[in-house]
Amino acid sequence: MNLPDGLVPVADGLHLWSPGHAGTWGFANCLLITSGEQAALVDTPYDQPMTEALLAAARPVLPAGAAAVTTIVNTHVNGDHTFGNGCFPGAEIIATKASAEHLCREPSPQQMHFLTHQTPADQPLGWYAREHFGRYTYEGVEAVPPTTTFSGRYALTVGDIEAELIEVGPAHSAGDLIVHLPAQRVVCAGDVLFAEDHPVHWDGPLARVAAACETILALEPEVVVPGHGPVMSAEDVRGYITYLRELEALVHARHAAGVPAGEAAADILAAGFHDHLGLRERIVILTAVEYRHLDGDTREVDVVGLAAQAAAWAYRDHGPGKP
Ligand SMILES: [Zn+2]
Repeated sequence: MNLPDGLVPVADGLHLWSPGHAGTWGFANCLLITSGEQAALVDTPYDQPMTEALLAAARPVLPAGAAAVTTIVNTHVNGDHTFGNGCFPGAEIIATKASAEHLCREPSPQQMHFLTHQTPADQPLGWYAREHFGRYTYEGVEAVPPTTTFSGRYALTVGDIEAELIEVGPAHSAGDLIVHLPAQRVVCAGDVLFAEDHPVHWDGPLARVAAACETILALEPEVVVPGHGPVMSAEDVRGYITYLRELEALVHARHAAGVPAGEAAADILAAGFHDHLGLRERIVILTAVEYRHLDGDTREVDVVGLAAQAAAWAYRDHGPGKP
């Protein structure tokens, strides 16, 4: 697996581990905050080998390695931002109360291992799981939950650096938070924002994701770190809000016309909506989630069920045997 061997300086005391890899799942950005002897990490990688690669890359700024990181912030509790938590024994792990309460619906490492190894490889979900998640090591991983939770806002101090954690969920997930570093004019957005690929938003609706992005813009950041992909400017965030609004209009029009969700997604995909972005099948998930809201469906979000719908579309579009 090709991973960065260095961290990218973002501002004074802020370094980004950005594994890139547009067009697939699981390579999330992690932001390291260091000041004096103290260090905090915003999000942890998907598995232990990736977390070890991050720590090796961080050696120039983090001489004591994992032991120096005494605080972890989880922007939300998807595994690709939290499964590395266990590599920082004794660290305080901060997330929103809503994130902690919805941890139970996240696929566990054991379920991810099952999906990538024990499902039929010639069926859509098994094929898709292997394609996009088969590279990660889930065996032996313990999902370590938050130790400190909050609602609303939370002030975090790392040495001389002041950070404010602001709850913006539900949006991407039930309990999203963003990390605002006012002196550095940086916002770490978690999966409210994606660069280079179509986003995926499990909770929604799209209007709430757009509202979270407006909250980011109101902070007047110079640099915005998305959950996945390269860093963004305020202008990039505005473009992303336009994407969300356009998609919302397309989905709502089809819902109003009585078109079933699956057909609506297929129709939007066939029209080539923002076709330059990767992971087009995520439109299937975004549409299904938006329909849930429009239909007033309040049942618990079925993450694997939604992923299976996207897998079915991807399998038909470019599965085995397709060009
Ligand atoms: Zn993510």
